Amino acid sequence: MDYVNHVLDEVKARYFYEPEFIQTVTEVLGSLRPVMDRHPEYQKAKLLERLVEPERIISFRVPWRDEKGEYHVNRGYRVQFSSSIGPYKGGLRFHPTVNQGVLKFLAFEQIFKNSLTGLPIGGGKGGSDFDPKGKSDEEVMRFCQSFMNELYRHIGPGVDVPAGDIGVGSREIGYLYGQFKRLTAQYCGVLTGKGLAYGGSLTRTEATGYGVVYLTNEILTHKGKSLQGQRIIVSGSGNVAIYAAQKAQEMGAVIIAMCDSDGYIYDKDGVDVAVIQELKEHRRARIREYVAARPKAEYHEGFRGIWTLPCDIALPCATQNEIDLDAAQSLLNNGCWMVCEGANMPSTLEAMSAFEEAGILFVPSKAANAGGVAVSALEMSQNSVGLAWSFEKVDNRLREIMANIYANMSAAAAEYGKNENDYVTGANVAAFLKVSEAMMDQGLV
Ligand code: NDP
Repeated sequence: MDYVNHVLDEVKARYFYEPEFIQTVTEVLGSLRPVMDRHPEYQKAKLLERLVEPERIISFRVPWRDEKGEYHVNRGYRVQFSSSIGPYKGGLRFHPTVNQGVLKFLAFEQIFKNSLTGLPIGGGKGGSDFDPKGKSDEEVMRFCQSFMNELYRHIGPGVDVPAGDIGVGSREIGYLYGQFKRLTAQYCGVLTGKGLAYGGSLTRTEATGYGVVYLTNEILTHKGKSLQGQRIIVSGSGNVAIYAAQKAQEMGAVIIAMCDSDGYIYDKDGVDVAVIQELKEHRRARIREYVAARPKAEYHEGFRGIWTLPCDIALPCATQNEIDLDAAQSLLNNGCWMVCEGANMPSTLEAMSAFEEAGILFVPSKAANAGGVAVSALEMSQNSVGLAWSFEKVDNRLREIMANIYANMSAAAAEYGKNENDYVTGANVAAFLKVSEAMMDQGLV
């Protein structure tokens, strides 16, 4: 039997209860067949079998007390998947849908995303099924402190450096950092996404969203097109969505719709991103309130309706599997010709196949949203030498990194893919080749 199928069958049988993990392993391994054909030594070394098993998973309870004095217990995790090319690096997610399988999928993706940045960072991810929504600052702080009471012994600047993700922004990173410092008496770059006053990097807040747009623009430029006048749907209204929308608009695009998990807004003249930012970043309000500031815009309940709007480009920036086959078909029927994934794995395997069959430009998340972790690695570099770089310096490095990702991904697509636009294969292969070389060099570990 083909080596890739053999490993896939084993993963499906062993982890049948982790559908998101199976989905990402299927996508990644599925595009590595041409590499396995050229490197029979990988099969002998059981490289894929080793690659799909996390080096370590830490799971722990997180007890905390709310402001009314009631007790709660959440589950906390850190998946330290691969340290082949550097210390574990990847965000923490606080959301009720978090479980070990979701974090394994995210950590597995992170290995390849981090490799694509060209920086020395391994793959990890963590989080909890805690829901910060509707909690007071005091409650969020108590939860973060309890979470760190366990996590601190497993992380460190040369070991594992977590960052934010869904539900973990600058407020949570601040509380987590404060507790780490209190427990260890160390002031070091153990988390990224920190506030500027205590070791954070300029441009980190904007990095993921900006990176998505820099890569989109790089591809369009190579195709003789530009962002000017393109009508774009950006799903979500969190960190990635806001800065993707802001940068795309700055580069001449028209953002026609955004959403949260309750519903979406359609503003055909162009979304006022500053209003979204005020609602979401400062007031932690719902997106339905947007229409109070922009009466000509429409609000619709249910976020999935956002994919039924006609557009040129879709930037899914909310969560995994938000574009299923129906959504993909609606996008295609309504003229969408490019999808660049800001969220992690926002398209299902069926949706990806539909995009591929239609021949539209499709950029997978591990390449498109790598700008966030790239700037996190730059934050680590600044912390290690005790310097703070200017916004322009970090932004320029981010642009260069996204341009390099395009160059490596498209070269690998041309060499190993179905065609030069097969960025799924291109990103997977370009990322894998570096990880596999490091694994082989380091022996059986
Ligand atoms: P935020 O928490 O800032 O925002 C998430 C947004 O997505 C919110 O608008 C939220 O709506 C919506 N959302 C979350 N879960 C769901 C759901 N199950 N159904 C519908 N909508 C949902 O997160 P980020 O912007 O940081 O992250 C967004 C995506 O980007 C994630 O996939 C994350 O893994 C990925 N990513 C983030 C990076 C970063 O630097 N922040 C780096 C690389 C990838 P609501 O407020 O209603 O919950």
